[in-house]
Amino acid sequence: MGDMALETSSPIIDFHIHVFQEPWHPWVMEFLRKVNPKAYASKPLKTHELLRILDDVGVEYGVVLAENAPAVTGIVSNRYVAEFCSESDRLIPFASINPNTSPDMVGELEEAYELGCRGLKLLPSYMFFYPNESRMYRLYEKAEELDIPVMFHTGTSVFKNVRQKYADPIYIDDVAVDFPDLKIVLSHSGRGMWYQTATMLARIHENVYLEIAGLPPKKLLEYIPNLEELADKIIFGSDFPAADIAENIRQIRALPVSNSAKRKILGGNALRLLALST
Ligand SMILES: [Zn+2]
Repeated sequence: MGDMALETSSPIIDFHIHVFQEPWHPWVMEFLRKVNPKAYASKPLKTHELLRILDDVGVEYGVVLAENAPAVTGIVSNRYVAEFCSESDRLIPFASINPNTSPDMVGELEEAYELGCRGLKLLPSYMFFYPNESRMYRLYEKAEELDIPVMFHTGTSVFKNVRQKYADPIYIDDVAVDFPDLKIVLSHSGRGMWYQTATMLARIHENVYLEIAGLPPKKLLEYIPNLEELADKIIFGSDFPAADIAENIRQIRALPVSNSAKRKILGGNALRLLALST
């Protein structure tokens, strides 16, 4: 905050990009075909193809997410995203660990870190756990020790088998209280019924951020009325391929908030969180 260099020239960072290894479950593929036919690919993207897509829309860095949610979407392994991103330092892989299938979550995170993963994505409503369960705490300790952000999927989702109760961000309050130094990202900002809870957490906790993937940015001020005040806490992510990255950026640029807020949202905050330099 107050870093002039950062404010005048921030790159655009997309904090929420999906790739797939094996086809997702049929209901996910059908959803993708419907929401963004332009970006839908029946074959997995290659690294250079994703980079070209990011070049075309002016995105400098992208966070590429592993996903370990066999009951809801499918599996994209930590090794797969690490290898996918190893060809370019513009792509940052995030690991995904499922408490209900992992025999050793801490060991898995260490291994993912060694492979190059620089963040952890958890999907409570796809993996079926509450973020404040005690069995999760050693994993958060390890993430804090490695100094990598933990991103929680929050908010409702339409996919089959999702259990919405776990997507309520209120359970992340305990995590933020017990791990004040842990960087926490609330993916989708509590979308649907929990924007207020998510916004409250970002206001109260120094290291809790709101990430806006999957939300139409033109409606952002409806969801987060104090957007300008929270500008240091908001992070752009598209949810590609479930969203059109260029259109999302256009809508953020058109919001009636300050240019400085737009730059922070589009990349300045993520740059700090990911400890990247330009
Ligand atoms: Zn997503």
